[in-house]
Amino acid sequence: MKVSDSHERRSTTVTIEDLVKKFGSLQALKGVSLDIHEKEFFTLLGPSGCGKTTLLRSIAGFEKPNSGRILFNGINTTELPPWEKNIGFVFQNYALWPNKTVFQNVSYGLELRKKSKDYINEKVQWALAMVELTGVEKKYPEEMSGGQQQRVAIARALVIDPDILLLDEPLSNLDAKLRISLRKQIRQIQKALGITAVYVTHDQEEALEISDRIAVMNNGVVLQVGRPDEIYRNPKDIFVADFIGKANLIEGNLDDGIFLSAAGSRIPLSKFVKSQQGGAVLFTRPELLVHDSVPIDGGIPAIVSERFYLGNISRYSLELDGGSQMLLETNKEYKSGDTIYIKVEKYEIF
Ligand code: ATP
Repeated sequence: MKVSDSHERRSTTVTIEDLVKKFGSLQALKGVSLDIHEKEFFTLLGPSGCGKTTLLRSIAGFEKPNSGRILFNGINTTELPPWEKNIGFVFQNYALWPNKTVFQNVSYGLELRKKSKDYINEKVQWALAMVELTGVEKKYPEEMSGGQQQRVAIARALVIDPDILLLDEPLSNLDAKLRISLRKQIRQIQKALGITAVYVTHDQEEALEISDRIAVMNNGVVLQVGRPDEIYRNPKDIFVADFIGKANLIEGNLDDGIFLSAAGSRIPLSKFVKSQQGGAVLFTRPELLVHDSVPIDGGIPAIVSERFYLGNISRYSLELDGGSQMLLETNKEYKSGDTIYIKVEKYEIF
C-alpha cells in the first residue's frame, strides 16, 4: 500500500462551549459557542480585532482560554498544547524556516514523529503534489514567490495527516489575482481530503466563496452562523447586513406600511409592517430594488446622482424625494441626473 493511501483520517467535529479569553482587562472572546461539523469548511469572519485569530489559536492550543471548553469529536482538548492535538496550522506570514529547503520544511513534522525515511520521502512528495509544487524540494523559501511559499506552508500542514486544518488569513499577503486562484485551490484540497477546516479572514467576498458555513464575529462575540447565502440574504442584525456585501440601511420610523426615513423620504413597503416604538432601520440589498425609467405601480421617484461602472453591472447612487440616499446595482443603463422609479420589495426591518 502506498503511504498516500495509508492514512485513515478521522472526520473531526469541533465543539466550542462558552469560550472566554482575556488579555489583561481586554476580553477578546466573550463566551463563544460553536458547532463545526465534520468535513466542513468553516470560516470565522469579522473586522480586525473582533477575536477571530484568538479563537483559531485557542482551537489550535496556542492560546489557553480563561474558561469554556474546546472538544474534538466530543473529547475535551482545551488544555492540550498544539503538538498533542494533531492539527495543521497555516499562518498568515507562511512561517517557513529560511535556512531549510522546501523538503526540510515540509518533512519537519514527520521527522518529529520519527517516521521512516521511505515514509517521509513518499509523504512529502504526496503533500507537494497536493499543492501542485512537485519538483521544488531543493529550493529555499527565498527562491520562491509568496504564493509558492504559502503552498509549501499548506503542504507542511497537510503532511502529518492532521485531523483538522486551521488557516489564519493565509492569503492576505498575496496580490488579488493570486488570492482568488489559491483560495479555490485550498477549497479543492479540503474537499478532496475530506478534512475539517477552520479558516480566518476579514474578507467577506473570500468567505462567501470558499465556505460551507460562516460565523460572523464582532467584538468578541459570534453574531450569526449560517451558509453564505443565508448570511447574505437574511442577516440577523445591522452589523452583519452592513459587513457582508453592499447594503442599504436607512434609519427612520414605520408608519403602517410606509417607511418614513429620518432624512424625510416616504418609502412604501410591499407588505404591511406594524409600526414599532423607538425607530427602525430599513435594510435592502442594492440588487434587489425594483426599478424602471418609467413610473411603476407603488414606486417612488429617485434621481440618479452618481454612476459607478463595475464591468458587468453598474452601481448607482440614488437620491429619493426627501433626501434619503440608496444604492442600486443593475446591468440596466441609467445616466447621472436621470429620474427613475424604484420599489422596495425585498427587505428587512431591524
Ligand atoms: P486581526 O484580523 O487584526 O488579526 P482578529 O479579529 O483576529 O483581528 P484578534 O487578533 O483575535 O482579532 O484580537 C482580538 C483582541 O485581542 C484585539 O483587541 C487584540 O488587540 C487583542 N489581543 C490579541 N492577542 C493579544 C495578546 N497576545 N496580548 C494582548 N492583546 C491581544
